[in-house]
Amino acid sequence: MTRALLSVSDKSGLIPFAKNLVELGYELVSTGGTHKVLADAGLAVISIDEVTDFPEMLDGRVKTLHPRVHAGLLARRDLPEHMAKLAEFDITPIDMVVVNLYPFKSTIQKEGVTEAEAIENIDIGGPSMLRSAAKNFASVLPIVDPKDYDVVVNKLKAGEVDREYRKSLAAKVFQHTASYDALIANYLTETSFPENLTLPYEKFDDMRYGENPHQPAAAYKTALPEAYSVLNADILHGKQLSYNNIRDADAALRIIAEYEETTVVTVKHMNPAGIGQGETLEAAWDQAFAADDISIFGGIVALNREVDVVTAEKMHAIFLEIIIAPSFTPEAYEILATKKNLRLLTLPFTTNIPQKLEVTSVLGGVVVQERDLVGESEDNFTVVSKAQPTKEQLQAMIFAQKVVKHVKSNAIVVARNGQTLGIGAGQPNRIDSVVYSIQKAEKKPGFDEAVLASDAFFPMDDSVQYAAEHGIKAIVEPGGSIKDKDSIAKADELGVVLIFSGTRHFKH
Ligand code: 5GP
Repeated sequence: MTRALLSVSDKSGLIPFAKNLVELGYELVSTGGTHKVLADAGLAVISIDEVTDFPEMLDGRVKTLHPRVHAGLLARRDLPEHMAKLAEFDITPIDMVVVNLYPFKSTIQKEGVTEAEAIENIDIGGPSMLRSAAKNFASVLPIVDPKDYDVVVNKLKAGEVDREYRKSLAAKVFQHTASYDALIANYLTETSFPENLTLPYEKFDDMRYGENPHQPAAAYKTALPEAYSVLNADILHGKQLSYNNIRDADAALRIIAEYEETTVVTVKHMNPAGIGQGETLEAAWDQAFAADDISIFGGIVALNREVDVVTAEKMHAIFLEIIIAPSFTPEAYEILATKKNLRLLTLPFTTNIPQKLEVTSVLGGVVVQERDLVGESEDNFTVVSKAQPTKEQLQAMIFAQKVVKHVKSNAIVVARNGQTLGIGAGQPNRIDSVVYSIQKAEKKPGFDEAVLASDAFFPMDDSVQYAAEHGIKAIVEPGGSIKDKDSIAKADELGVVLIFSGTRHFKH
């Protein structure tokens, strides 16, 4: 007789599966709660106490942790000595383990959960059985996911559960228990940079491809509870998000979180294309669109207010990939949803993203850092030029500083208050970013109010010179170069405001 041990917290699909097992000639062994469900469904089921000859004890902390269970799972069927040992101790082999674990994740997600309650929801016996069965997958079927019940039944009915499939079930078990332990480790860990970095990730989606069509790809979402993420957005409309969509939308969310004011952010290839603010969302859209009315095509748009009809109509008029907002009015949704491929996402707006750390992969490892969380404020500004800034210039500088930290270095942002006018991104030298951003900006209305922000210091005075000679009247940069005095002298010579912010905002 073949024997299956069932001990599950998530009882979905359990009864039909167990009925199938009985039909296939299995005898069932089960723990307290699972036993009751099966017995109530009229199935013959042996209680675990009868197998271990011990009662479940310590409030269920010890139910299945017993040699009669683990020897029955771990004995190698191909070794006569192992089988003789089982016979000597009158231990029945167990051929299948069906276990899913105490719900640690949903427990720690509950509002006001105590540490004691969380700890009680650390499953010990379940992972142990799963691991024993998975180690012995040559002879024992380890089943951790109710979604696998049907496939297992079909394979058993067809008379063969091939080795490859058994191995895949074992792999799934170890992925699952590793992730489960990672979640527990994260819950208990107080330091940002522990000795071993264990991160629980769950598959979000298989992607059609990665950055390019020849690159296979998938997206994973953290199992940690606090996640503010595009992966947690509700997709109201449109086809599946692509790999590039996810990264671009992520970039847009990071930028929009900088602004309490009514703001529209457009992103292309992870850099901001244009950012606009206004009294109304429509006005903010107009500013963002005018900021760069070419780059926005095919872009990602993030807004921090409910999308209304007028703004929806304007966005509808051009080709966009994604619109992400806290909500859409029903009429605005109707308008935008007429576009089959446009993705409409909702995610509550916040200026306080809870995740403090970010992980970036390199070949052979990851680097982890605190996000660039410095709040931009005039209090950190030092005016180093003779010329003094106006109130408007200071406001524009704060606005531009919040953008520049999200632009790939070397980053230069030319902006007036509430609107970017030119963004120089990713050039391997600073002066090229300066030249490019000013060339974009100088044709635009409002350039006479423009300030220029730099993510890092100017290594020479050429950037100040170029900016001043091309109509920029105020510049903010961190300062800190050995040639700062040259830049200051150039600012004074050409009569422009130069401010040191004291904070570098590299984004490599
Ligand atoms: P039941 O609802 O059947 O009483 O309990 C099922 C749960 O108990 C499953 O999630 C299983 O992983 C867990 N479990 C099984 N054996 C043990 C054990 O010995 N100790 C602990 N802490 N949990 C166990």
